[in-house]
Amino acid sequence: MYDFVVVGAGPPGSRFARRAAAAGSDVLVLEKGRVGEPLACSGHVSDDIWEFVPDDARERLLQNSVYGARFHVGGPESRASPFYKREPVSNVIDRVGMDRRLAVAARDAGADVREGHTVVSVEERADRVAVEASVGDGDTERFEARMIAGCDGPTSRVRRSLDLPEPDELLHGVLAFDDEPDDGDLVDVHLTAPTFFAWRIPRGDAGVEYGLAAPPGEDVSARFDALTDAYGVTTDRFCSGAIPIGPPDRVTTDRAFLIGDAAAQTKPFTGGGILYGMTAADAAAETIDPADPDTLADYESAWRDELGTEIRLGHAIRSCYSLPEPIQRAGLWALSGEIGVHMDRPSSVFSPTHLRTLFSRSDPPE
Ligand SMILES: Cc1cc2nc3c(=O)[nH]c(=O)nc-3n(C[C@H](O)[C@H](O)[C@H](O)COP(=O)(O)OP(=O)(O)OC[C@H]3O[C@@H](n4cnc5c(N)ncnc54)[C@H](O)[C@@H]3O)c2cc1C
Repeated sequence: MYDFVVVGAGPPGSRFARRAAAAGSDVLVLEKGRVGEPLACSGHVSDDIWEFVPDDARERLLQNSVYGARFHVGGPESRASPFYKREPVSNVIDRVGMDRRLAVAARDAGADVREGHTVVSVEERADRVAVEASVGDGDTERFEARMIAGCDGPTSRVRRSLDLPEPDELLHGVLAFDDEPDDGDLVDVHLTAPTFFAWRIPRGDAGVEYGLAAPPGEDVSARFDALTDAYGVTTDRFCSGAIPIGPPDRVTTDRAFLIGDAAAQTKPFTGGGILYGMTAADAAAETIDPADPDTLADYESAWRDELGTEIRLGHAIRSCYSLPEPIQRAGLWALSGEIGVHMDRPSSVFSPTHLRTLFSRSDPPE
């Protein structure tokens, strides 16, 4: 019997598997397809990412460094309000490559990572969990572990099988690419999608990404076409995925715990979940003892201590996306300029670094 069976080899799954295996646990990871595929993510992350990937990975994964964002209340022709730093704020990375590198790191630490294993049922018993995985051609395999980590994304099978509560909301996100290289310093954010936004991300030699997210039923595809038409581009490699917002009150049972999108550990104002998920994975690895189910309560409080305030403040930022346009315009005009905030931490709006930057603003760099 394994100590942990981890369902899903996205960033939090592989991160947890790596840490738990390195600490001496016997870890099995079941991934339904090939690690990293299909792509449904921009891979736009803060510098904190480099604390989570092996040192040798940076050069291969980094596509472009970003210094800030131009916010628009309308389309590309509308006035832009830039928010920027003088050093890079964030990174555009090869997301598929990152998932693969993290899975290799989990394997190197001793985890048994198996692709082509789709978990189809989960049964929780008094002393163990039993998992059934489909392996193709109608064949299934069964596994047992002391505990199960549901790292299987926004529509988590583990969550549903164990009757854990659903996230507050599932947005529908889409993105596609124009191959024209662009190593621009700023991403563009358009507050044109209901309750969320559309974006343009320069990805260096990998081209330009256009994307949009909104609640389901808002005809996301038509809105996406309107965005690319307004930019006058034709895109290909269209991808689509769900973005969970609003973690439920409970992400653990007696022998199961959720991490990442399965637990809706995302930034409510961007939908970004790569770093929040891996932060929660570290909290899980540091608190959960597979031989002691009581430690699951420690994980519930540890990840909320780490991320709860940022998620609450993130909801407040998101509510600004629904303000009337004149108020948005006035707010962006008043606040734009050089900033000192950390893109994953809304609380950094109150930080001495940001306040110092606000009060000593000078002309933007050419
Ligand atoms: C359009 C879009 C753009 C985004 N852009 C960003 C961004 O720029 N920055 C950012 O931080 N976040 C972004 N996100 C969010 C980010 O993609 C997620 O937060 C992140 O991928 C969460 O990782 P995860 O491993 O929890 O889930 P996932 O990445 O969904 O991984 C879950 C894994 O579980 C596997 N799996 C699912 N079901 C099963 C099963 N039954 N059996 C076995 N395996 C299973 C899947 O194949 C997958 O590998 C974006 C999301 C979308 C939709």
